Amino acid sequence: MEQKTTITVARGDGIGPEIMDATLKVLEHAGARIEPEFIDVGEKVYLSGNTSGVPDEAWESLRRNKVFFKGPITTPQGGGYKSLNVTIRKTLGLYANVRPNVSYDPFVKTKHPDMDLVIIRENEEDLYGGIEHQQTPEVVQCLKLITRPGTEKIVRYAFEYAKKNNRKKVTCFTKDNIMKLTDGLFHKVFDEIAEEYPDIETEHWIIDIGMAKLADTPQDFDVVVMPNLYGDIASDVAAQITGSVGLAGSANIGDNVAMFEAIHGSAPDIAGKGIANPSGLIHGAIMMLVHIGQAEIATKIHNAWLKTLEDGVNTGDIAKGGASVGTMAFAEAVIERLGQTP
Ligand code: ATP
Ligand code: MG
Repeated sequence: MEQKTTITVARGDGIGPEIMDATLKVLEHAGARIEPEFIDVGEKVYLSGNTSGVPDEAWESLRRNKVFFKGPITTPQGGGYKSLNVTIRKTLGLYANVRPNVSYDPFVKTKHPDMDLVIIRENEEDLYGGIEHQQTPEVVQCLKLITRPGTEKIVRYAFEYAKKNNRKKVTCFTKDNIMKLTDGLFHKVFDEIAEEYPDIETEHWIIDIGMAKLADTPQDFDVVVMPNLYGDIASDVAAQITGSVGLAGSANIGDNVAMFEAIHGSAPDIAGKGIANPSGLIHGAIMMLVHIGQAEIATKIHNAWLKTLEDGVNTGDIAKGGASVGTMAFAEAVIERLGQTP
Protein backbone atom coordinates (compact mmCIF):
# COMPACT_ATOMS: atom_id res chain seq x y z
CA MET A 1 0.00 0.00 0.00
CA GLU A 2 1.46 3.30 -1.10
CA GLN A 3 1.68 6.06 1.44
CA LYS A 4 -1.15 8.57 1.71
CA THR A 5 -0.62 12.27 1.03
CA THR A 6 -1.96 14.50 3.80
CA ILE A 7 -3.94 17.39 2.33
CA THR A 8 -5.39 20.40 4.09
CA VAL A 9 -9.16 20.64 3.52
CA ALA A 10 -11.52 23.54 4.20
CA ARG A 11 -15.17 22.56 3.74
CA GLY A 12 -16.10 26.21 3.16
CA ASP A 13 -19.30 28.23 3.52
CA GLY A 14 -22.73 28.17 1.84
CA ILE A 15 -22.92 25.11 -0.40
CA GLY A 16 -19.26 24.34 0.48
CA PRO A 17 -19.85 21.62 3.11
CA GLU A 18 -22.41 19.85 0.89
CA ILE A 19 -20.25 19.70 -2.23
CA MET A 20 -17.09 18.93 -0.20
CA ASP A 21 -18.67 15.94 1.56
CA ALA A 22 -19.94 14.64 -1.80
CA THR A 23 -16.52 15.11 -3.43
CA LEU A 24 -14.57 13.50 -0.58
CA LYS A 25 -16.90 10.50 -0.81
CA VAL A 26 -16.09 10.16 -4.52
CA LEU A 27 -12.35 10.42 -3.76
CA GLU A 28 -12.59 7.76 -1.07
CA HIS A 29 -14.46 5.30 -3.30
CA ALA A 30 -12.05 5.94 -6.17
CA GLY A 31 -9.14 4.87 -3.95
CA ALA A 32 -7.42 8.26 -3.77
CA ARG A 33 -4.43 7.91 -1.45
CA ILE A 34 -5.13 11.05 0.58
CA GLU A 35 -5.54 11.86 4.27
CA PRO A 36 -7.65 15.01 4.79
CA GLU A 37 -6.69 17.38 7.61
CA PHE A 38 -9.60 19.77 8.18
CA ILE A 39 -9.18 23.46 8.92
CA ASP A 40 -11.72 26.18 9.64
CA VAL A 41 -11.39 29.25 7.44
CA GLY A 42 -13.94 31.77 6.17
CA GLU A 43 -17.22 33.08 7.52
CA LYS A 44 -17.07 31.64 11.04
CA VAL A 45 -13.50 32.84 11.50
CA TYR A 46 -14.24 36.32 10.08
CA LEU A 47 -17.23 36.73 12.38
CA SER A 48 -15.12 35.71 15.40
CA GLY A 49 -13.11 38.91 14.78
CA ASN A 50 -10.23 37.67 12.59
CA THR A 51 -10.38 40.02 9.56
CA SER A 52 -8.19 37.74 7.40
CA GLY A 53 -10.52 34.75 7.83
CA VAL A 54 -7.52 32.45 8.32
CA PRO A 55 -6.48 31.47 11.89
CA ASP A 56 -2.85 30.64 12.79
CA GLU A 57 -3.39 26.89 12.99
CA ALA A 58 -4.77 26.94 9.43
CA TRP A 59 -1.56 28.59 8.15
CA GLU A 60 0.47 25.95 9.99
CA SER A 61 -1.51 23.15 8.36
CA LEU A 62 -1.13 24.74 4.89
CA ARG A 63 2.62 25.25 5.29
CA ARG A 64 3.07 21.69 6.54
CA ASN A 65 0.94 19.87 3.94
CA LYS A 66 1.49 22.17 0.93
CA VAL A 67 -1.70 20.99 -0.77
CA PHE A 68 -4.94 22.81 -0.07
CA PHE A 69 -8.35 21.57 -1.16
CA LYS A 70 -10.80 24.37 -0.56
CA GLY A 71 -14.58 24.72 -0.61
CA PRO A 72 -16.03 28.13 -1.57
CA ILE A 73 -15.87 30.84 1.11
CA THR A 74 -18.26 33.67 1.93
CA THR A 75 -16.62 36.99 2.75
CA PRO A 76 -19.07 38.85 5.02
CA GLN A 77 -20.32 42.19 3.61
CA GLY A 78 -18.68 45.39 4.84
CA GLY A 79 -16.57 45.77 7.99
CA GLY A 80 -13.06 45.59 6.49
CA TYR A 81 -12.98 41.83 5.88
CA LYS A 82 -10.17 40.95 3.49
CA SER A 83 -10.74 38.52 0.63
CA LEU A 84 -9.43 35.19 1.84
CA ASN A 85 -8.52 34.15 -1.69
CA VAL A 86 -6.32 37.20 -2.21
CA THR A 87 -4.70 36.74 1.22
CA ILE A 88 -3.95 33.06 0.61
CA ARG A 89 -2.60 33.65 -2.90
CA LYS A 90 -0.27 36.42 -1.74
CA THR A 91 0.89 34.81 1.50
CA LEU A 92 1.63 31.45 -0.10
CA GLY A 93 2.94 32.89 -3.40
CA LEU A 94 0.39 31.12 -5.62
CA TYR A 95 1.47 32.85 -8.81
CA ALA A 96 -0.48 30.87 -11.41
CA ASN A 97 -4.22 30.40 -11.65
CA VAL A 98 -5.07 27.58 -14.03
CA ARG A 99 -8.62 27.13 -15.30
CA PRO A 100 -9.53 24.55 -17.92
CA ASN A 101 -12.79 25.36 -19.74
CA VAL A 102 -14.36 22.49 -21.62
CA SER A 103 -17.82 22.15 -23.15
CA TYR A 104 -19.68 18.87 -22.75
CA ASP A 105 -21.95 18.98 -25.76
CA PRO A 106 -24.64 17.58 -26.02
CA PHE A 107 -24.91 16.83 -22.30
CA VAL A 108 -24.63 20.46 -21.20
CA LYS A 109 -26.30 23.07 -23.38
CA THR A 110 -23.73 25.43 -24.97
CA LYS A 111 -23.33 27.52 -28.12
CA HIS A 112 -19.72 26.32 -28.33
CA PRO A 113 -19.66 22.52 -28.61
CA ASP A 114 -15.95 22.25 -29.54
CA MET A 115 -14.47 24.35 -26.79
CA ASP A 116 -11.46 23.03 -24.86
CA LEU A 117 -9.14 25.76 -23.64
CA VAL A 118 -7.10 26.58 -20.55
CA ILE A 119 -6.75 30.08 -19.13
CA ILE A 120 -3.51 30.71 -17.23
CA ARG A 121 -3.80 33.90 -15.25
CA GLU A 122 -0.94 35.67 -13.46
CA ASN A 123 -2.12 35.78 -9.87
CA GLU A 124 0.03 38.18 -7.82
CA GLU A 125 0.87 41.31 -9.81
CA ASP A 126 -0.85 43.82 -12.11
CA LEU A 127 -3.63 45.91 -10.54
CA TYR A 128 -4.10 43.40 -7.71
CA GLY A 129 -1.05 44.60 -5.76
CA GLY A 130 -3.32 46.65 -3.53
CA ILE A 131 -1.27 49.80 -4.26
CA GLU A 132 -4.07 52.37 -4.19
CA HIS A 133 -3.85 55.97 -3.04
CA GLN A 134 -6.08 58.95 -2.58
CA GLN A 135 -4.14 61.73 -4.35
CA THR A 136 -6.51 64.60 -3.57
CA PRO A 137 -10.13 64.59 -2.40
CA GLU A 138 -11.14 64.17 -6.03
CA VAL A 139 -8.38 62.01 -7.46
CA VAL A 140 -7.62 58.39 -6.65
CA GLN A 141 -4.94 56.15 -8.12
CA CYS A 142 -4.20 52.44 -8.43
CA LEU A 143 -0.78 51.28 -9.59
CA LYS A 144 -0.25 48.55 -12.13
CA LEU A 145 2.81 46.49 -11.31
CA ILE A 146 4.40 44.10 -13.81
CA THR A 147 7.83 42.59 -13.09
CA ARG A 148 10.17 40.66 -15.37
CA PRO A 149 10.68 37.80 -12.85
CA GLY A 150 6.92 37.53 -12.24
CA THR A 151 6.17 37.56 -15.96
CA GLU A 152 8.90 35.04 -16.79
CA LYS A 153 7.48 32.71 -14.17
CA ILE A 154 3.89 32.79 -15.43
CA VAL A 155 4.79 32.65 -19.12
CA ARG A 156 7.17 29.75 -18.56
CA TYR A 157 4.48 28.00 -16.53
CA ALA A 158 2.07 28.38 -19.48
CA PHE A 159 4.55 26.88 -21.98
CA GLU A 160 5.51 24.03 -19.64
CA TYR A 161 1.81 23.35 -19.05
CA ALA A 162 1.24 23.23 -22.81
CA LYS A 163 4.18 20.87 -23.29
CA LYS A 164 3.15 18.49 -20.48
CA ASN A 165 -0.47 18.42 -21.54
CA ASN A 166 0.22 18.03 -25.23
CA ARG A 167 -1.35 21.36 -26.13
CA LYS A 168 -0.44 22.86 -29.51
CA LYS A 169 -0.71 26.61 -29.09
CA VAL A 170 -0.13 29.31 -26.47
CA THR A 171 -1.86 32.68 -26.94
CA CYS A 172 -0.96 35.84 -25.02
CA PHE A 173 -3.42 38.71 -24.36
CA THR A 174 -2.19 42.21 -23.42
CA LYS A 175 -3.02 45.84 -24.14
CA ASP A 176 0.53 46.82 -25.06
CA ASN A 177 -0.59 49.31 -27.70
CA ILE A 178 -1.70 51.52 -24.79
CA MET A 179 0.31 50.33 -21.76
CA LYS A 180 3.60 50.22 -23.60
CA LEU A 181 5.82 49.66 -20.55
CA THR A 182 3.80 47.29 -18.34
CA ASP A 183 1.91 45.22 -20.90
CA GLY A 184 4.81 45.83 -23.27
CA LEU A 185 7.10 43.95 -20.87
CA PHE A 186 4.62 41.08 -20.56
CA HIS A 187 4.41 40.76 -24.36
CA LYS A 188 8.20 41.02 -24.80
CA VAL A 189 8.87 38.29 -22.21
CA PHE A 190 6.22 36.14 -23.91
CA ASP A 191 8.03 36.48 -27.27
CA GLU A 192 11.40 35.69 -25.67
CA ILE A 193 10.24 32.55 -23.89
CA ALA A 194 8.22 31.40 -26.94
CA GLU A 195 11.53 30.99 -28.79
CA GLU A 196 12.52 28.26 -26.35
CA TYR A 197 9.47 26.21 -27.41
CA PRO A 198 9.71 25.94 -31.20
CA ASP A 199 7.21 23.04 -31.32
CA ILE A 200 4.43 25.13 -29.82
CA GLU A 201 2.55 27.60 -31.99
CA THR A 202 2.24 31.07 -30.45
CA GLU A 203 0.18 34.21 -31.03
CA HIS A 204 -0.57 37.50 -29.35
CA TRP A 205 -3.83 39.45 -29.41
CA ILE A 206 -4.70 42.83 -28.00
CA ILE A 207 -7.03 41.92 -25.13
CA ASP A 208 -10.18 43.60 -26.47
CA ILE A 209 -10.30 41.86 -29.84
CA GLY A 210 -8.72 38.72 -28.37
CA MET A 211 -11.46 38.47 -25.76
CA ALA A 212 -14.12 39.06 -28.41
CA LYS A 213 -12.69 36.22 -30.51
CA LEU A 214 -12.47 33.98 -27.47
CA ALA A 215 -16.15 34.56 -26.71
CA ASP A 216 -17.14 34.00 -30.37
CA THR A 217 -14.86 31.15 -31.50
CA PRO A 218 -13.37 29.61 -28.34
CA GLN A 219 -12.47 26.48 -30.32
CA ASP A 220 -9.63 28.50 -31.93
CA PHE A 221 -7.85 28.79 -28.55
CA ASP A 222 -5.78 26.28 -26.63
CA VAL A 223 -3.65 27.66 -23.76
CA VAL A 224 -4.13 31.41 -23.11
CA VAL A 225 -1.82 33.34 -20.75
CA MET A 226 -2.34 36.90 -19.51
CA PRO A 227 -1.87 39.43 -16.70
CA ASN A 228 -4.05 39.25 -13.59
CA LEU A 229 -7.03 41.52 -14.34
CA TYR A 230 -7.54 40.36 -17.93
CA GLY A 231 -7.29 36.78 -16.70
CA ASP A 232 -9.94 37.37 -14.07
CA ILE A 233 -12.41 38.55 -16.69
CA ALA A 234 -11.43 36.09 -19.42
CA SER A 235 -11.71 33.08 -17.13
CA ASP A 236 -15.26 33.97 -16.06
CA VAL A 237 -16.33 34.58 -19.66
CA ALA A 238 -14.80 31.28 -20.74
CA ALA A 239 -16.47 29.34 -17.90
CA GLN A 240 -19.85 30.90 -18.57
CA ILE A 241 -19.89 30.04 -22.27
CA THR A 242 -19.18 26.35 -21.61
CA GLY A 243 -22.75 26.28 -20.26
CA SER A 244 -22.55 26.37 -16.44
CA VAL A 245 -20.40 27.92 -13.71
CA GLY A 246 -21.10 24.79 -11.66
CA LEU A 247 -18.76 22.59 -13.74
CA ALA A 248 -15.22 23.92 -13.76
CA GLY A 249 -12.40 23.54 -11.26
CA SER A 250 -9.25 25.58 -10.85
CA ALA A 251 -5.72 25.29 -9.52
CA ASN A 252 -3.65 28.01 -7.89
CA ILE A 253 -0.02 27.03 -8.18
CA GLY A 254 2.99 28.28 -6.21
CA ASP A 255 6.57 27.09 -5.79
CA ASN A 256 5.80 25.39 -2.48
CA VAL A 257 2.03 25.22 -2.05
CA ALA A 258 -0.89 24.61 -4.41
CA MET A 259 -4.59 25.19 -3.87
CA PHE A 260 -7.47 23.47 -5.68
CA GLU A 261 -11.11 24.55 -5.76
CA ALA A 262 -14.28 25.02 -7.81
CA ILE A 263 -14.48 28.25 -9.79
CA HIS A 264 -17.90 29.25 -8.42
CA GLY A 265 -18.72 30.95 -5.13
CA SER A 266 -20.56 29.77 -2.04
CA ALA A 267 -24.02 30.19 -3.67
CA PRO A 268 -25.88 31.23 -0.49
CA ASP A 269 -29.16 31.25 -2.48
CA ILE A 270 -29.16 27.45 -2.68
CA ALA A 271 -27.12 26.56 0.43
CA GLY A 272 -28.46 23.85 2.73
CA LYS A 273 -30.88 22.51 0.11
CA GLY A 274 -28.72 19.63 -1.06
CA ILE A 275 -29.13 20.60 -4.73
CA ALA A 276 -25.75 22.18 -5.61
CA ASN A 277 -23.70 20.63 -8.39
CA PRO A 278 -20.50 19.11 -6.93
CA SER A 279 -18.86 18.88 -10.40
CA GLY A 280 -16.71 22.04 -10.10
CA LEU A 281 -15.16 20.78 -6.88
CA ILE A 282 -14.80 17.27 -8.34
CA HIS A 283 -12.82 18.87 -11.20
CA GLY A 284 -10.69 20.73 -8.63
CA ALA A 285 -10.04 17.34 -6.98
CA ILE A 286 -9.06 15.82 -10.33
CA MET A 287 -6.43 18.57 -10.84
CA MET A 288 -5.21 18.01 -7.28
CA LEU A 289 -4.76 14.26 -7.85
CA VAL A 290 -2.67 14.94 -10.96
CA HIS A 291 -0.57 17.42 -8.94
CA ILE A 292 0.18 14.86 -6.18
CA GLY A 293 1.09 12.13 -8.64
CA GLN A 294 -2.17 10.16 -8.66
CA ALA A 295 -3.12 10.74 -12.30
CA GLU A 296 -4.57 7.24 -12.68
CA ILE A 297 -7.15 7.93 -9.95
CA ALA A 298 -7.85 11.33 -11.53
CA THR A 299 -8.59 9.66 -14.87
CA LYS A 300 -10.80 7.07 -13.22
CA ILE A 301 -12.91 9.79 -11.57
CA HIS A 302 -13.03 11.89 -14.72
CA ASN A 303 -14.26 8.96 -16.81
CA ALA A 304 -16.92 8.07 -14.23
CA TRP A 305 -18.03 11.70 -14.14
CA LEU A 306 -18.31 11.88 -17.95
CA LYS A 307 -20.26 8.61 -17.96
CA THR A 308 -22.63 10.05 -15.35
CA LEU A 309 -23.39 13.03 -17.61
CA GLU A 310 -23.73 10.74 -20.62
CA ASP A 311 -26.26 8.65 -18.75
CA GLY A 312 -28.35 11.78 -18.24
CA VAL A 313 -27.82 12.15 -14.49
CA ASN A 314 -27.96 15.90 -13.84
CA THR A 315 -28.16 18.34 -10.96
CA GLY A 316 -30.74 21.14 -11.33
CA ASP A 317 -28.34 23.71 -12.82
CA ILE A 318 -27.69 21.59 -15.94
CA ALA A 319 -30.95 19.62 -16.12
CA LYS A 320 -32.35 21.48 -19.21
CA GLY A 321 -35.85 21.25 -17.72
CA GLY A 322 -35.65 17.47 -17.30
CA ALA A 323 -35.34 15.40 -14.14
CA SER A 324 -32.58 16.23 -11.70
CA VAL A 325 -30.92 14.72 -8.65
CA GLY A 326 -29.39 16.29 -5.53
CA THR A 327 -25.73 16.77 -4.62
CA MET A 328 -25.16 13.45 -2.85
CA ALA A 329 -27.21 11.40 -5.33
CA PHE A 330 -25.08 12.85 -8.15
CA ALA A 331 -21.90 11.88 -6.29
CA GLU A 332 -23.29 8.39 -5.73
CA ALA A 333 -24.03 8.11 -9.44
CA VAL A 334 -20.37 8.97 -10.14
CA ILE A 335 -19.24 6.38 -7.56
CA GLU A 336 -21.40 3.68 -9.22
CA ARG A 337 -19.61 4.38 -12.50
CA LEU A 338 -16.02 4.25 -11.20
CA GLY A 339 -14.14 1.87 -13.47
CA GLN A 340 -16.43 2.58 -16.45
CA THR A 341 -15.35 4.61 -19.46
CA PRO A 342 -17.55 7.06 -21.36
P1 ATP B 1 -18.86 34.81 -4.79
O1 ATP B 1 -19.00 36.23 -4.39
O2 ATP B 1 -18.64 33.87 -3.61
O3 ATP B 1 -17.96 34.58 -5.95
P2 ATP B 1 -21.10 34.93 -6.54
O4 ATP B 1 -22.22 35.78 -6.06
O5 ATP B 1 -20.16 35.45 -7.55
O6 ATP B 1 -20.31 34.37 -5.28
P3 ATP B 1 -21.77 32.18 -6.97
O7 ATP B 1 -21.80 31.83 -5.54
O8 ATP B 1 -20.70 31.57 -7.79
O9 ATP B 1 -21.76 33.71 -7.19
O10 ATP B 1 -23.18 31.86 -7.62
C1 ATP B 1 -23.65 32.44 -8.82
C2 ATP B 1 -24.94 31.73 -9.25
O11 ATP B 1 -24.63 30.41 -9.70
C3 ATP B 1 -25.95 31.54 -8.09
O12 ATP B 1 -27.26 31.68 -8.56
C4 ATP B 1 -25.69 30.15 -7.63
O13 ATP B 1 -26.82 29.54 -7.06
C5 ATP B 1 -25.26 29.42 -8.91
N1 ATP B 1 -24.27 28.38 -8.58
C6 ATP B 1 -22.99 28.56 -8.21
N2 ATP B 1 -22.38 27.40 -7.97
C7 ATP B 1 -23.30 26.43 -8.19
C8 ATP B 1 -23.28 25.01 -8.09
N3 ATP B 1 -22.19 24.34 -7.71
N4 ATP B 1 -24.41 24.33 -8.39
C9 ATP B 1 -25.52 24.99 -8.78
N5 ATP B 1 -25.61 26.32 -8.89
C10 ATP B 1 -24.52 27.06 -8.60
MG1 MG C 1 -18.06 35.56 -7.92
